[in-house]
Amino acid sequence: MTDLSPLDAAGVQAAVDEALAAFAAATTLDELKDARLAHTGDKAPLTLANRAIKDVEPSDKATAGQAMGAARAAMGRALAARTEELEAERDARVLLEETVDVTLPVARGLQGARHPLETMQETMCDTFVAMGWEVAEGPEMEAEWFNFDALNFDPDHPAREMQDTFFIDPPESGLLLRTHTSPVQVRAALDRREALVKEGRGIYVVCPGKTFRTDELDATHTPVFHQIEGLAVDKGLTMAHLKGTLDAFARSLFGPDAVTRLRPSFFPFTEPSAEMDLRCFVCGGEDTSCRTCSGTGWIEWGGCGMTHPNVLIAAGIDPFEYTAFAFGMGIERTLMFRHGVKDMRDMVEGDVHFSQQFGMEI
Ligand SMILES: [Zn+2]
Repeated sequence: MTDLSPLDAAGVQAAVDEALAAFAAATTLDELKDARLAHTGDKAPLTLANRAIKDVEPSDKATAGQAMGAARAAMGRALAARTEELEAERDARVLLEETVDVTLPVARGLQGARHPLETMQETMCDTFVAMGWEVAEGPEMEAEWFNFDALNFDPDHPAREMQDTFFIDPPESGLLLRTHTSPVQVRAALDRREALVKEGRGIYVVCPGKTFRTDELDATHTPVFHQIEGLAVDKGLTMAHLKGTLDAFARSLFGPDAVTRLRPSFFPFTEPSAEMDLRCFVCGGEDTSCRTCSGTGWIEWGGCGMTHPNVLIAAGIDPFEYTAFAFGMGIERTLMFRHGVKDMRDMVEGDVHFSQQFGMEI
């Protein structure tokens, strides 16, 4: 191919037309870039022709310069226009391609869940906090004195036997894993007796927490379980206050129709003592084939009673001046009958699928 002369008007026009056609034919910015390099790059015929202006006769330089200037200007305009078009197309396409459809379903990662025992315990505590009670906690490894002696257990009470209680080595340490949360009642009473005696501030505490017994894990037993106990110490407290408190507690967990009943029983730390039943919240006592209450109309829920004078004395409180009531129930058991959990082991295994059924709240 012979070099294009800047004075070859037809040749210049043809080169310009060819460039404009190439720009117009480019459908992407990359193609346009290739076309631009081919037609305006260092080796392009028009670039070479422009460079050749210096070689033409001086009398023709002006003509050649004008022709080349017009050619370059035409290509520059076409290039700018096509660039603008292609950029607009690209932007429109990107907007479309990168659109996020917020209605599409997403694969969610498996989230953790709070353990239902934990939320159940909080719900129970909240009921009492709303009534002005305090939540008290104590050590899980406890002195035998707090776990048994202070609670009026005889030295030869069978609950102290090795087959029920985890004792801590060496035996003379006098330590064990608490078998109930009742020692927290004694500790809470000791902590608050001064305010009770000096300021007349009644003691109203609930004590939730882990307890330990030497049971094998099966569908209805676990060596580690949870209790919540309550203790109220004040002047003039009676079984009527106890019953009212338990009914309020039952209503908060099982709805406005919930009621409890008391049956005579025996515990070392209360006198009189009672078993506490909840009227079946599923059948209301109307269905003899009800699986929740086994058709009896009542569900055994816990134990309670008027705190034994010896327990008050152990906590430094005069039983002639103050009376007290106490109650306790298993949190696992409450969860089982309230939510139809059939196997205790489900609560122990820590499978997130089990916990997730309960959500974050109970
Ligand atoms: Zn029932």
